Amino acid sequence: VPDSDQHVRRGRRGFPLLPGGYGRDAYHTGAAPVYAVRGEGHRLWDDRGRELIDANNNFTTLVHGNAHPQIVEAATRAMDSGACWGIPNLGEWELADLLLQRLPGLDQVRFTNSGTEAVMSAVRVAREVTGRTGVIMTRGGYHGSSDVALCAGGEQSARGVPESTVREVSLVPLNDIDSLRQVIEEKPHHHAAIVLDLLPNRAGLISVTADFLRAARELADQHGILLVIDEVISLRIGAGGLSGEYGIVPDLLTAGKLIGGGFPVGALAGREEFMRVLDPRSKGSIPHSGTFSGNPVSMAAGTEALRLLSPDTVARLNRLGDQARRVVAARVEPLGWEVRGAGSLLRVFPAGVTGVDRETQHRLWWAAYDRGLLLSSANLAALSTPMTTEVVGDLADRLADAVAAVAEATP
Ligand code: PMP
Repeated sequence: VPDSDQHVRRGRRGFPLLPGGYGRDAYHTGAAPVYAVRGEGHRLWDDRGRELIDANNNFTTLVHGNAHPQIVEAATRAMDSGACWGIPNLGEWELADLLLQRLPGLDQVRFTNSGTEAVMSAVRVAREVTGRTGVIMTRGGYHGSSDVALCAGGEQSARGVPESTVREVSLVPLNDIDSLRQVIEEKPHHHAAIVLDLLPNRAGLISVTADFLRAARELADQHGILLVIDEVISLRIGAGGLSGEYGIVPDLLTAGKLIGGGFPVGALAGREEFMRVLDPRSKGSIPHSGTFSGNPVSMAAGTEALRLLSPDTVARLNRLGDQARRVVAARVEPLGWEVRGAGSLLRVFPAGVTGVDRETQHRLWWAAYDRGLLLSSANLAALSTPMTTEVVGDLADRLADAVAAVAEATP
């Protein structure tokens, strides 16, 4: 179906009620969207009655799949007690405790409503702590849609961002230690933060090397820069997040997605010496609030989600990821494609290509969809705990079939 907004609902003046017919850019797959109506476990049904294996999981959020009974129960209990209040709720302490138990080396948490806000606040804290303004990120990454974060994606991604902000951001190629050192040493007192995603999806789902991360940690320490690790997606990969797998403790860590159990959430965790600038009792504190920050429903659902994500469960999910990558690789490599990823995340690419054009992404998305597999619009597949080895085998077959269809159609 062509990407036309002809059939969407319109307002009094005749315009689609949503710009272009879309509620988020990430829904755009190059053709008229399909709508989700129900999910259960690893399955999702669309408005055409089609059943899909859900490997999108709301962009990696639903690590326990759709409508996990224990998470539904926890969220329902919280809603029954009144959704949100204007004085603190005890759920924040529960989730903070669970999260920090996984992140040894970090002391405190502030909850937000999204990963975007968590990263935005991390940058603000780093700027306050250091008294500097510059931010270093790796090129092509995604850290949400704050002005600073959008600069990571380059010119097109930073449209609408003031030039003065763009100038504050230095981009270095992923895993290029010399560039990182050069950027820092050129202006040794300029940078407040290095913001790193250890498995940046937008930049091609290529892992940060242990050497690069170690160099970032050392350079940050040498130059009084805060190391911020953005684990909004990658937290699911290790019992202590992906940074835990590398054995590196950041100064600040951002999380989101899965830690809300399917409800809006973000979190900024950090060492007390930095997080203290958020203490509202202090005259010098920097602002951070949010009408829905730490809301009881997200806290209750997120607490249940994290409880269910035990180290054994993480290990099982990661084994399923290995299985999926193995099966998909065996089938797509002869077609000139490859599979990348880590833990329970995987994505296919034409061999050796870092960034795939959007058209190819869309073609693969629909090829998978037509075979009953829901990927993210950028083709990321995220496994969930209700999946069995059989389901993952099926998922891998459908993904490989989709690649075969796209490879065949592409000269
Ligand atoms: N950081 C990373 C690494 C992300 O992948 C995302 C979202 N995909 C964000 C930050 C922003 O999170 P949110 O969409 O919840 O604002």
